[in-house]
Amino acid sequence: MSEYHRKSSFEVMEKLDVTREGLSDYDVQMRQEVYGTNELLEGKRTSAFAVFFGQFKDLLVIILLVAAFISFLLGEVGSTIVILIVVILNAVLGTVQHVKAEQSLDNLKELTSPVAKVVRNNQIVEVASADIVVGDLLYLEAGDFISADGRLIESHNLQINESSLTGESLAVGKSTVPIDDEDVPLGDQKNMVFTGSFVTNGRGLAVVTAIGMETEIGKIANLLDSAKEKKTPLQVSLDHFGEKLALGITMICVAIFAIDLVRGRELVESFMFAVSLAVAAIPEALSSIVTIVLAFGTRKMAKENAIIRKLYAVESLGSVSVICSDKTGTLTENKMTVLNVYVDQKVIPYNELQTANAIENKLIVQALLCNDAFEKEQQEIGDPTEMALVKLGRQYDFNELTVREQYPRVAELPFDSGRKLMSTVHRFNQQTVMITKGALDVLLPKLVKIETANGLRVMTQAQRQKIEEVNRQFSMSGLRVLAIAYKEVQRNRTIDVNDEKDFTFVGLVAMMDPPRNESQAAVESCIRAGIKPVMITGDHKITATAIAQQIGILKNPSEAIEGYEIERLTDQELQEKVQDVSVFARVTPEHKIRIVKAWQEKGHVVAMTGDGVNDGPALRQADIGVAMGRTGTEVAKDASSMILTDDNFTTIVKAISNGRSIYTNIKNAILFLLSGNAGAIFVVLYATVLGLPVPFAPVHLLFINLLTDSLPAIAIGLEPHNKKTMKDKPRNIHSPLLNKAFTTQVMLEGLLIAIATIFAFRMGLSTGDTLTASTMAFTTLCLARLVHGFNSRSKESIFAIGLFTNKYTWVAFFVGILSLHLVLFVPALAGVFKVATLSIEQFWWIYSLAFMPFLVNQWVKVLFVRRK
Ligand code: ATP
Repeated sequence: MSEYHRKSSFEVMEKLDVTREGLSDYDVQMRQEVYGTNELLEGKRTSAFAVFFGQFKDLLVIILLVAAFISFLLGEVGSTIVILIVVILNAVLGTVQHVKAEQSLDNLKELTSPVAKVVRNNQIVEVASADIVVGDLLYLEAGDFISADGRLIESHNLQINESSLTGESLAVGKSTVPIDDEDVPLGDQKNMVFTGSFVTNGRGLAVVTAIGMETEIGKIANLLDSAKEKKTPLQVSLDHFGEKLALGITMICVAIFAIDLVRGRELVESFMFAVSLAVAAIPEALSSIVTIVLAFGTRKMAKENAIIRKLYAVESLGSVSVICSDKTGTLTENKMTVLNVYVDQKVIPYNELQTANAIENKLIVQALLCNDAFEKEQQEIGDPTEMALVKLGRQYDFNELTVREQYPRVAELPFDSGRKLMSTVHRFNQQTVMITKGALDVLLPKLVKIETANGLRVMTQAQRQKIEEVNRQFSMSGLRVLAIAYKEVQRNRTIDVNDEKDFTFVGLVAMMDPPRNESQAAVESCIRAGIKPVMITGDHKITATAIAQQIGILKNPSEAIEGYEIERLTDQELQEKVQDVSVFARVTPEHKIRIVKAWQEKGHVVAMTGDGVNDGPALRQADIGVAMGRTGTEVAKDASSMILTDDNFTTIVKAISNGRSIYTNIKNAILFLLSGNAGAIFVVLYATVLGLPVPFAPVHLLFINLLTDSLPAIAIGLEPHNKKTMKDKPRNIHSPLLNKAFTTQVMLEGLLIAIATIFAFRMGLSTGDTLTASTMAFTTLCLARLVHGFNSRSKESIFAIGLFTNKYTWVAFFVGILSLHLVLFVPALAGVFKVATLSIEQFWWIYSLAFMPFLVNQWVKVLFVRRK
């Protein structure tokens, strides 16, 4: 156990050779060379080699290997070689796809790798957590994840949740006092902070004492199992489907094999028949296609500012029917500007304050003191609400940093969105003063006196009402209002929330935060898409209503309720009410969870935004937890399944639209694969029932299923985004992909392909040569399925979506055609694939027949769209 908790902060800093200015770049570099990076080792991930061999565990591949072996025993060495080549090619292709998809997801993870704030070269800077070194000074505030073990050297009401380490879910209060006890358990080391925990409240500074695997969590965790991405519901259900299908097919194959033998068909032929059927039926590429499409989809979404952290979110996005969004910064610009001030019974525009007036002067000074924002080298650092106050001060030549130096802060209670207040204590010449700023409705009951031109007065009921009235007027114009108050306190005393009372009122500051330009259009598009946008805000109800009305979220003021009203409702009552509410104002993070649950109970799929440390549970409860990339805390990001890099509501709507497209594309790719397989099965079954010769050799079906079919399937999965997706209602998350309508479509489309193929097969048979017959069947099937790729792009006709809008389908088509013709015309290949030379007339028929299913399909689509 480390001894750092027993030492004083000074001793620790001396031992680790660091000053209050933090390390220099040179120190950091040297230490990184000695101690390495601050990373916990992840569980071993499967190597490409293992992935390659994993492909041979597949049922289909096993069947094929058995077939290859039996072919070999029967002297069909050519078939054996082809089967083996195709199997190996398939495994290589599968491995490449797997590795590519994994790379794409890794890149995504890098975008969301955690960051930490450290003091280096006497400045607070943000660095990747991996770059922290022993001796760094970690700057901690509410919402930060702690990414190294450290000894505290400063603590202002610092509260830390260490549940990941100790199992204790309540936050622990921290201090800097040394603990002179050798064997204190981790949970009682109040002056230490540990990796894996997070700050729930307050502020602190800690010297890093251990990183990476040397930290307490590193010692217990050893290996984190974060390398494996869990499968999405769709992947799981496809896996189940695949297993069931494989089992069913195997049974049918065995039965057909037995029937054929009883009927007196030759052993080899019967066997080949059964294998053909198995190959025709098993949708080999299914699962990997889904992974690839999801991986590519998330890459595109990341480019459009939405980073997916959990793959399953992509699927759920398409089903989102409610978006609960924060107001500030998400629907609005988060650029606050002070418009009006209210002091001493007067509303004064922001540019008409008199610094010679004692109260007006006091308001500005206090607004700058109870404030953490500052401007340095033309960079604005800190919360926009506080920045607005800094700018107000600068307008009257007050420099916030100078003011703060003049009246140093000796204690503080940081802003907390639950309390809606912030307090600081400052030393003025003779006095010690506590300044508080925050929401008026919270502060008003705590006011006892008021600053007037005639000096301090006990606040009268009339004055109270006047302040409330002014607050209402400001709020109705969509302004955010802060009240500022103060009181004298004893010297050298720490403060807690119980001290926030008995204040003297100085004034109100009203600031504007305009809605983002694009919010209104995004809200409209949501409503058109059957998605209800809901505003959830810590702000005042009247302010929130005004903004919500401007952007179209709220039509009627009765659709807004406040946090205290939620508290009065039972869960059941909230469920009944929730659908009629568009604005929830003055809510706390606890209300957010209840709101999400109420919607979910009503059968909705909810996306909810969050940024604060206490938003974690609501973000986890939501179907899609959306964290703010810019202003969000690390804790919120960790709890989310999607991060917005631009904090913009519009990005959520875009992500939903992308989610819908991706799901549709996957569905279309599956439709393509299954209908093609169904076509082949119908042909094989037809031949069995009528006792005709084998229409395809196993290698034919292998060639189609594993090679010429997988490229079009991927191409369909990459179909460009169709704007019309936002005209439909959200997809029901519980309706299975493989439902009756879908299965019927698979069967019908398969039947069309089968009819064309059977036609060609019978033409071939009429020549009396079975080789010609099977060549014609194979070529028609392969071509028809390649052309069918264009059908599967959309439920609309190819002309409605544009023939050339998806260039991948053309590439896939031509590569397929080229491969097919190589097999047909290169003599060496023609020998192995057992194809006969066809006449021009036969080719003419094959091409015509292969296009037949396409024409019928397109004709139906045109009719269907017209009817709709
Ligand atoms: P939204 O949920 O829409 O993003 P918000 O998160 O901005 O809203 P909060 O930050 O919780 O809401 O603010 C709620 C109220 O707290 C504000 O209306 C304001 O009165 C007060 N407030 C906001 N920021 C501060 C601050 N830095 N200091 C003191 N009071 C603040």
